[in-house]
Amino acid sequence: MSLSVTVVSPEPEVREVETGTTAMDVVGQDRSVLVARVNGTLKDLDYVLEPGDVVEAVTAADPEGLAVLRHSCAHVLAQAVQQEFPEAKLGIGPPIKDGFYYDFAVGRPFTPEDLQALEKRMQVILKAGQRFTRRVVTEDEARHELKHEPFKMRLIGSEGGADVMEVGGAELTIYDNVDAKSGERCWGDLCRGPHVPTTRYIAPNAMKLMRSAAAYWLGNQENESLQRIYGTAWASKDELQGYLTFLQEAERRDHRRLGAELDLFSFPEEIGSGLAVFHPKGGVIRRVMEDYSRSRHEAAGYEFVNTPHLTKAQLFETSGHLDWYSEGMYPPMELDAEYTEDGLLRRAPQKYYLKPMNCPMHNLIYRSRGRSYRELPLRLFEFGTVYRYEKSGVVQGLTRARGFTQDDAHIYCTKEQMPGELDTLLTFVLDLLRDYGLTDFYLELSTRDPKKSVGTDEEWAEATEALRVAAEKQGLTLVLDEGGAAFYGPKVSVQAKDAIGRTWQMSTIQVDFQLPQRFDLEYQSADGTRQQPIMIHRALFGSIERFFGVLLEHYAGAFPPWLAPVQVVGIPVTDSHVDYLDQVAASLRAEGVRVEVDASDDRMQKKIRNAQKLKIPYMLIAGDEDVAAGAVSFRYRDGTQRNGIPVSEAVTEIVEAVRNRLQIA
Ligand SMILES: [Zn+2]
Ligand SMILES: [Zn+2]
Repeated sequence: MSLSVTVVSPEPEVREVETGTTAMDVVGQDRSVLVARVNGTLKDLDYVLEPGDVVEAVTAADPEGLAVLRHSCAHVLAQAVQQEFPEAKLGIGPPIKDGFYYDFAVGRPFTPEDLQALEKRMQVILKAGQRFTRRVVTEDEARHELKHEPFKMRLIGSEGGADVMEVGGAELTIYDNVDAKSGERCWGDLCRGPHVPTTRYIAPNAMKLMRSAAAYWLGNQENESLQRIYGTAWASKDELQGYLTFLQEAERRDHRRLGAELDLFSFPEEIGSGLAVFHPKGGVIRRVMEDYSRSRHEAAGYEFVNTPHLTKAQLFETSGHLDWYSEGMYPPMELDAEYTEDGLLRRAPQKYYLKPMNCPMHNLIYRSRGRSYRELPLRLFEFGTVYRYEKSGVVQGLTRARGFTQDDAHIYCTKEQMPGELDTLLTFVLDLLRDYGLTDFYLELSTRDPKKSVGTDEEWAEATEALRVAAEKQGLTLVLDEGGAAFYGPKVSVQAKDAIGRTWQMSTIQVDFQLPQRFDLEYQSADGTRQQPIMIHRALFGSIERFFGVLLEHYAGAFPPWLAPVQVVGIPVTDSHVDYLDQVAASLRAEGVRVEVDASDDRMQKKIRNAQKLKIPYMLIAGDEDVAAGAVSFRYRDGTQRNGIPVSEAVTEIVEAVRNRLQIA
């Protein structure tokens, strides 16, 4: 008997094949092909084809293929753990970004030595080339086989309940690891698959166990605590090396670490998780960031407002935040209760909330008096400090904090003004981000989820189209996030790549059909009728703290001169040159340059090292010859040096670099 299948890759063709032909038979035996995509679903390569199947070869170049490789490696880890710790019980083992993990119930936490021993065992398994063999089982069979695995037992029959790799396929399956030579079963695991054909598909030098940590069963705090091992696996040794180098580089740039090393900010235990204090040097950077942003906003026609941190509950009832955002808010403070002399409640306490967003307050400013079409677009700007309750597990330095200041603005405009406003807004946003040194962007357009949205079809269509046109005009890659918009309107977000290629979501431009309704916002149009304005939310940095953290990592602490807390340090060759450098410093200070002279007892070489550690852009060194010639020696952060530069020339070079926001090494 023969049947017809369509092969998409590696070579597109329609083929007549014998009954019993597997996916591997048609996509070839190339070791780089890990699994097959059959009719859009990933299948093991020994999947037996059916008439009309559409078959595609999937390699590690495909993210889904790489995930299969990593997940297969998680099986190998679990086998190794049960060899080393026969009493260990299996949790779940999914692929994750850049790797995989597996959870185990085991008597004690894993040590670094354990991980080394496990890695050795894994390498033996990988080299043995055990076959991953799929076997369909009934629930009863699975229960019988897995009666010593209490966590797997809980997954059987829980289809739909737990979103895990183990179950939830069309059939319940166990994957056996079968020895290549003897054909004997070495190990097995409940899993819906698919996997790579044999453990030889995972190169022993392209995988690594990274670390271990405690984790709750299925990630739920109410459940048992298990021990999780994280690992990573790649298509080749070089890719693994590249990843490890990237991690080292990211670690070197970690803003929490640089923040302490450069004395910029800290998170005092006494204040609480996710709440930063900025030290003087961090304060300088922050002030310069804010000042520049403020001046650009002023030039772009924004008006500045200020609003309080605290508000009565009613405001967030009106805005709807208490309905749909209360989990992100701090619990209320109950104030102003009144009691009778007998201690009876005369007036119930008033609830006050810390604000998680500034928008409702800006709406009150808009609504504080009648508005005419002549005032629109009205652009209200505020460095508004907000507080959001982030779970302690997700709080991370400045990039995910519990209190932060948004560079927040709300634009109120007419429907007709919206396209033009979005266009200039996006240009403004990108222009400003470029000034801070981010230059590599793509844009993401989030469109309507018809299942949950307010606003009419027409409003959504118009606003989405206006955002799309504005985004396309920028000539940047535009990624569509279909159905990903918040229920109250479409959004464009700016994704920026940093110096080591990581993507950060920066600015968002969000159209809102809901708040103008909820707050009854109006303006009087040219024909005298009352109309509802369109509202646009936009935060350019996201928050100052987060942007600060991103820039700190992007520059690895070596800020360009205009942002550097100390821009110049004078380094005397001996004590006798301090006075001379003080004069040079005075002429720089007169031009607004932040300059210090290192008059400490350290030797010159030590002073240079100190300045390098602090990543100060310019060192001006002066000795006898410089004093005699009215000159200084420039030493840059990258170690290059230029000698005998006349002082006036040195001042000009530095002032120009600061004014023009030049990037220097
Ligand atoms: Zn599996
Ligand atoms: Zn807003």
